Amino acid sequence: MHSTHHEPAPDKKPRVMILATGGTIAGAADSSIQAGYTSGRVSIDAMIGAVPGLAGIARVHGEQVANVGSQDMTFAIMIDLANRINAILGADEVDGVVVTHGTDTMEETAHFLNLTVKSKKPVVLTGAMRPATAVSADGPLNLYNAVAVAADSDAAGRGTLVVMNDRIHGAHSLTKTNTTSVETFISPINGLIGTVNYGKTEYFRKPFRKHTDKSDFSLEGVTSLPRVDILYACADMPADLIDCSVEKGAKGIVIAGDGNGNMNAATIKRAAQAAKKGIFIVRSSRVPTGKVGRNVEIDDDRMRFIASDELNPAKARILLMMALLKKRSLEEVQQLFYDY
Ligand code: ASP
Repeated sequence: MHSTHHEPAPDKKPRVMILATGGTIAGAADSSIQAGYTSGRVSIDAMIGAVPGLAGIARVHGEQVANVGSQDMTFAIMIDLANRINAILGADEVDGVVVTHGTDTMEETAHFLNLTVKSKKPVVLTGAMRPATAVSADGPLNLYNAVAVAADSDAAGRGTLVVMNDRIHGAHSLTKTNTTSVETFISPINGLIGTVNYGKTEYFRKPFRKHTDKSDFSLEGVTSLPRVDILYACADMPADLIDCSVEKGAKGIVIAGDGNGNMNAATIKRAAQAAKKGIFIVRSSRVPTGKVGRNVEIDDDRMRFIASDELNPAKARILLMMALLKKRSLEEVQQLFYDY
């Protein structure tokens, strides 16, 4: 049992900065039971105001970085966000950062920050599946739990985390699986980092891959990223989609392949032609779980393809975009997919 005299005095509590970017957690509808709503309408101050218990676990400050539904998230916002986080954590202004974010592309921003934040301190994304005005809105408890994790020194060194519905996910592994349920995120290949229950944390593991302070990627001088497209494989896939991407200036293409990163013979042929010209072709999978291995049904060595290993198409795209900021060989890029 905790006695009150072990509690840090209010001015000794961990300092947590909440950077708000929008999403359903900041969404509003005209009634509490309607499905239709607009993301990114509630300010960060109103969101903090809705969770009075926050002051009991941390000294929190809010800052509005953007206010968009995450379907409108851009790399310009992601780069701003990463730079802001690096500035705050580098200046030792806070002990941890929470980012409120829409759930649609949360895994992409989490993965991007996992590659580009240069600190061991906790960076925790959270959001909501139900808008702030809904009956049983999930945002306030998610925000409370996210602040508790960001304020917890045990969360440090575990890379960028996502806290939703009492679960602590690692940026590398999590993925959204349900369009409406509050239990939408899963970490299918390597499991959860931990759980958090009304602010009480428990950890199961550390991420297995390189991240944050061990990452070799840097955003110094970076204002935009090379174009990488994702093409979704399906029965009788039109192979000329590859040519369209190349014509539009894609430097890389991620195939959301069927099964173990497969695509039909016609697409393999076009993709191999593009690879020969120097376009990086990464085989990922449209299947929600499992690794994509090299040279399983497709001869990657001969076609000059890269296997995404554990990364789903959206995250493979981000890793490839970061990789292509520098000149690298095919072998080097393949190695990045094993390391990150
Ligand atoms: N479309 C919303 C968004 O990603 C969904 C959500 O936040 O749950 O911003």
